[in-house]
Amino acid sequence: SKRVAILTSGGDAPGMNACIRAAIIACQKAEYTLLGYQHGYNGLLQQEHVSLSLGSTHNLIQQGGTILHSARCKEFKNREGLMKAADNLKQAEIDTLIVIGGDGSFRGASKLSEHWDGQIIGIPGTIDNDIAGTDATIGYFTAIDTAMSSIDKVRDTADAFERIFLVEVMGRNAGFLALNAALSSAADYVVVPEFFESAETEIQKMVTQIKAQRALKGAVSFIIVVAENVWPNGLAGLTEALQQHDISDVRPVTLGHVQRGGSPVAQDRLLATTLGEHAIKLVGSEATNIMVGEVNQHPVTVPLSRTWETSKPLNDARVEAMRTLMNERYSE
Ligand code: ATP
Repeated sequence: SKRVAILTSGGDAPGMNACIRAAIIACQKAEYTLLGYQHGYNGLLQQEHVSLSLGSTHNLIQQGGTILHSARCKEFKNREGLMKAADNLKQAEIDTLIVIGGDGSFRGASKLSEHWDGQIIGIPGTIDNDIAGTDATIGYFTAIDTAMSSIDKVRDTADAFERIFLVEVMGRNAGFLALNAALSSAADYVVVPEFFESAETEIQKMVTQIKAQRALKGAVSFIIVVAENVWPNGLAGLTEALQQHDISDVRPVTLGHVQRGGSPVAQDRLLATTLGEHAIKLVGSEATNIMVGEVNQHPVTVPLSRTWETSKPLNDARVEAMRTLMNERYSE
């Protein structure tokens, strides 16, 4: 019978618990032992683990966050840390390690495989959706929903005062969350890293849209969604740039960590459940150093390295809709 360990690492994401739950039940059925390391790779280094059994699954699917807690871990980035982790896994007689996390966590897992010959399986868990080889990542759908609802609320107050609001949305260096939150909340403009040329060209386009909208509709609100880490000096920089074009009465809103929280929406629960179950199916197989993902609603396995070496494009149709309905809606 196999001994499996699971951990959550990097930024936490809604649905991680649903994935842990699926893994617990699937292990129970296969008669595998399942250990949970706490606090990401830190728990692996400190041998901080709990046994996960059916008792842990009660009311778990709907809980945000992760019962195993997540963390960043500096020590794991050097050779000594990796060797210590490998030793601990050998001591605990683990056959398979499952890592739920983002690309950083996968890089770490891949490095670990240079020191440990057990099986390593990654499951994509991040609100950013910035992992190649899978259509979506666990937590992404809930984060879109949270950002969308927040922008809806910003719109109410923006409309009341006919103001311009800048809303910063998470996403690391990818625009998935910003683009999809903007489209689903009918924002007026979106700035994403994938199409960002320079602040100068972007501001020209933005000002054109604002002026054209005002010429057509009079004083109305205008909502600009901005992906984090794109605009030089963030929302303060953008506010200043707009003021230089005589556009004042601008209000910045940073959504921040609320985007990481909340009960997972159905799509995240379904993805997490499917991937968790599928990962346990692969225990004991030849497959190692791989991520299980989902493409066109079917589980796939891809080499871990592909998940960060390949860049993942935004959905074409969504980009087209963005151009028509937002950034290029009004002509000069
Ligand atoms: P998210 O993108 O959602 O924040 P992530 O998994 O990318 O998630 P990171 O902070 O980049 O988050 O990585 C999580 C942990 O993985 C790090 O704290 C570190 O312990 C480990 N890690 C990241 N990169 C490496 C690497 N090159 N070598 C070894 N370990 C790494």
